[in-house]
Formats: sequence, structure tokens, C-alpha cells
Amino acid sequence: MKIIMLGAPGAGKGTQAARVADEYRIPHISTGDIFRANIKGGTELGKKAKGYMDAGKLVPDELVCDLVADRISQEDCKDGYVLDGFPRTIPQAEALDKAVAAMNGKIDFAVNIDVPDEAIVKRMGGRRACTNCGATYHVEFNPPKQADTCDVCGSKLVLRDDDKPETVKTRLSVYHEQTQPLIDYYEDQKILVTVDGTKDMEEVFSSIKEKLGA
Ligand code: ADP
Ligand code: ADP
Ligand code: ZN
Repeated sequence: MKIIMLGAPGAGKGTQAARVADEYRIPHISTGDIFRANIKGGTELGKKAKGYMDAGKLVPDELVCDLVADRISQEDCKDGYVLDGFPRTIPQAEALDKAVAAMNGKIDFAVNIDVPDEAIVKRMGGRRACTNCGATYHVEFNPPKQADTCDVCGSKLVLRDDDKPETVKTRLSVYHEQTQPLIDYYEDQKILVTVDGTKDMEEVFSSIKEKLGA
């Protein structure tokens, strides 16, 4: 199963992608996590991406498309994958279609997690992210067992710099301008499914599974 997660920043893409990946035993590919790992590792790509990310802007398409095309051509992706945070622009969606078609495949579902902007701002302030493995928590809605410590790997949790309210506002307007058009793009391809992302995490996951026919 090849799945794309769509939604505003903070809609719950990462949270649900991790569950979907577990359920179908397929890799969870987060471009945000890939960029953050590159920044941490001090790579050329990380250096190029950092300024855009800190400003709440999108990293240019040419820095992300080949990277994803390469990742999904790896052996562990042969039975499918869940893409979290990619595509985010129409050119990225077109590049993905091309890459998938070149491997004689097709995307099965684009899952749109629908959450209004008001709810997003509250969620982002409470998000805590693992500096090591990328797992995310919420201080109120999904707290870790031990404060500021990752349940999965024991590393420290932080409030991401780009989750501060000013940057969240920029990211939301970038989302509406550049990413929201993908909803129509996948609707036209007849692979769009939409779930109400304001429900609690378990309910959102159940409705995703239902729509994917699991
Ligand atoms: P969120 O979880 O809030 O949706 P991500 O972790 O997916 O955020 O992305 C963080 C930042 O990384 C984005 O604001 C953007 O700067 C960059 N980024 C991630 N994926 C992409 C992409 N597909 N295209 C361009 N920029 C991206
Ligand atoms: P995205 O990857 O779309 O940016 P995340 O999965 O990181 O979103 O979720 C953003 C924040 O909201 C995290 O702190 C997460 O724990 C929390 N969250 C995710 N889904 C829900 C939900 N259904 N209800 C309440 N909080 C949620
Ligand atoms: Zn961790």
C-alpha cells in the first residue's frame, strides 16, 4: 500500500503515519525528519534547508524531489510506504507521480486529515518532539510517560523552534497557498480520502483504517 498523508502542519500526519506504518508494516517516510536529521548531522543538505525551515517556509522542490524518489526506490519500500510531509506542492506531486510510474506503481490513497486553523495553533504549542527518533507527543493530548523524555528511545523532548506561534502562522499560510491545492489534485485522481482530524487520535486512526479498507 502506497499512502500519502496530507494536512496542515500539526493536523496529525506524523502521529497517524506512524500508526499506519505499523499496521501495514511499511516504512514511515517523513521529509521533515529527514531534513532535521541532516541539520543535526551538519550535511550540505541540512545547511541548505535550515534557513527555510526556521522561517516556516518550504524548502525548494529541487532539494526534496530527488531525495524522495531515491528513498522510495529502496528495497524496504517495495511493498509500499507512507509519505508524511511530502508532497507539499503541485510540482512535488507531479514529480512523485513520475517517480512512482517509472517503477510501474501507483499511489493508492491520499489521506487528508482535516483540522481547522484555530485548533492547529493550540496543538502546536503543546507538541514536543524527540531530538533523536522524531516521535512526537503533546503535553495535554498525548503526554510521554516521563516528562520531557521519549517513550520510544529515552532521548530528550523539545518544543521545535518552528512550532513557536509566529512561525506557525507563517506555516499555515504557506500551507493554504502551496499545499492545500493538492486536495483537488488527488480528488481528481480519485484517491483522496478525508478524515475529521479534530477527533481524538484513536478515532482518527479508526476512520483512516476504515477508509483504507483494513
Ligand atoms: P509538520 O510536522 O508540522 O507538518 P514537517 O516536520 O513535515 O512539519 O516539516 C518541517 C519543515 O520542513 C517544513 O516547514 C518545511 O520547511 C520543511 N519540509 C518538510 N517537508 C517538505 C517538503 N515536502 N517540501 C518542502 N519543505 C519541506
Ligand atoms: P503533523 O505531523 O501533521 O505536523 P503531529 O502528528 O506531529 O502533526 O501532531 C501535532 C501535535 O498534535 C502533536 O503534539 C500531537 O501529539 C498532537 N496530536 C496529533 N493528533 C491529535 C489529535 N487527534 N488530537 C489531539 N492532539 C493531536
Ligand atoms: Zn525518541
